[in-house]
Amino acid sequence: MDRLLEGYRQFRASVWPEERSRYEAMARRGQTPETLVIACSDSRVDPATVFGAVPGELFSVRNVAGLVPRYQPDAGYHGTSAALEYGVRVLKVARIVVLGHAQCGGIRAMVEGAPQGARDFVKPWMKIAEPVLRAQPSGPDSADPLTFYENGVVRLTLANLMSFPWIAEAVISGGLALHGFRFDIHTGVLAVLEGDSFVPVASASG
Ligand SMILES: [Zn+2]
Repeated sequence: MDRLLEGYRQFRASVWPEERSRYEAMARRGQTPETLVIACSDSRVDPATVFGAVPGELFSVRNVAGLVPRYQPDAGYHGTSAALEYGVRVLKVARIVVLGHAQCGGIRAMVEGAPQGARDFVKPWMKIAEPVLRAQPSGPDSADPLTFYENGVVRLTLANLMSFPWIAEAVISGGLALHGFRFDIHTGVLAVLEGDSFVPVASASG
């Protein structure tokens, strides 16, 4: 806890004085993010850090493995779908970014079985990704089955997004773009999904 409070004190001392006017403007005008990010809750894969974003830029939806269920409007508690609805229909974001990552514990749980302490909710949640698990590893990702499944989940999430009628309509009309990425924790390299392949994003340091 001390670490968090010390972090806050540093924020007030060094970040707040420089960013104060930005926060005050955002408080007056509300938020106008152009990007909605779907990412894993993994503490090592922070979308704002990876994309160098400032407060107000990213509307983030994070859950175990960065999954999106298919469109299912019923009385269930659909936290991810609610966030999508708000971001797309109310905030009218211009793009949705799906950020997958290497060494995903959620996907490992899907492949190897959920840990004993994660069976009430993680296990049924990961059923969303079952269509990916049915495929046999093949193609360029097949050397490492976890990579194959992690990348497959990004593709599945992009496909499931299109099952939401107001997302499909916005994509077809050109008002919304969907993008897939993968972040490698070990190398810090971000790759973008182009066609069916993840291609490293060019950067100054390689
Ligand atoms: Zn993960």
